[in-house]
Amino acid sequence: MTRVFNFSPGPATLPEPVLRQAAQEMLDWRGSGMSVMEMSHRGKEFMSIHAEAEATLRELLAIPANYKVLFMQGGAIGENAIVPMNLIGRTGRADYVLTGDWSKKSYKEARNFGTVNVAATAESSKFTAIPEQAAWKLDPGASYVHICSNETIGGVQFHWTPDTAGVPLVADMSSDILSRALDVSKYGLIYAGAQKNMGPSGLTVVIVREDLLGHALPVTPSAFNYKTQAENDSMYNTPPTYAIYIMGLVLQHVKATGGMPAVEEHNRAKARLLYDFLDGSSFYRNPVAKEDRSLMNVPFWLKDAALDEAFLKGAQARGMIQLKGHRSVGGMRASIYNAMPTEGVQALVQYMKEFESQHG
Ligand SMILES: *Cc1c(COP(=O)(O)O)cnc(C)c1O
Repeated sequence: MTRVFNFSPGPATLPEPVLRQAAQEMLDWRGSGMSVMEMSHRGKEFMSIHAEAEATLRELLAIPANYKVLFMQGGAIGENAIVPMNLIGRTGRADYVLTGDWSKKSYKEARNFGTVNVAATAESSKFTAIPEQAAWKLDPGASYVHICSNETIGGVQFHWTPDTAGVPLVADMSSDILSRALDVSKYGLIYAGAQKNMGPSGLTVVIVREDLLGHALPVTPSAFNYKTQAENDSMYNTPPTYAIYIMGLVLQHVKATGGMPAVEEHNRAKARLLYDFLDGSSFYRNPVAKEDRSLMNVPFWLKDAALDEAFLKGAQARGMIQLKGHRSVGGMRASIYNAMPTEGVQALVQYMKEFESQHG
């Protein structure tokens, strides 16, 4: 068996011990005589898996008791509609901060459900920086303020928490949840697709403050109504059971390897390795403002785009895959989520050095 270093932006690499455990438990989960995939979501076996996954997530992120944790489907793109359907009804208005492709997508979708204001946008810098808080035009009557904490395509990340003066802060954390310590109490709602840093696709995690429930627009489908899901422990409809099980294993793995402080330290060290190399090179370029660079997704461009194909081919031959940048921006992108080992980033930097000396 050979495992590659997988730099995919998502679905993404998972911790090998988790995959091994899942393989071992595939046919018979802990003496139950069945696979997790075959279990009733209301049976005692799966209920215990579900409860443990939630409890571990609560423990790792220190989620306060007045927040509900929901396991849903529809992904972050689904949440782009589900969030306004559930939250905008309080005042009919919402603020969006645009920092790249994903927050722009969220903003466009929200416009179907109320009056949506762009509180700040980094479009003029081609989304290479987070707009500073002083320049935001916040509406005190907004139902919420929406941000994307880490722009997976552009590689910009919030390294501070906005102050929204009491208006609930909503964050799409799909690509950086569980990558660093987090003060959940500063947010009204956090959502994330699992497939970047927490597990397989098909599962969306929503962490929502209880007082924000109960304002859903009448059009909200019942399966996407947070209050309905909260009242039914995310079992109003059949939840993505296998994805919840794998996420539970990932969370246990994070806990066993030191929890959030250790994960954050590991991620900072990996990102530093790559950015330090990029900054010392005139062959490769990363355009993002230093203070706003993502620890998770590192886009970079070669001096000459004609070399892109050769770069990717050479990487593949060395067991490094999925380094091609998003089709909308070109270039390269290394996604270095929690499960990417330091050795993967070291191998990448070593290869980049060699490629530069051959083609620079
Ligand atoms: C991947 C991603 C999405 C899209 O998630 P889906 O699961 O395809 O809906 C949305 N937002 C961010 C920040 C992402 O990284």
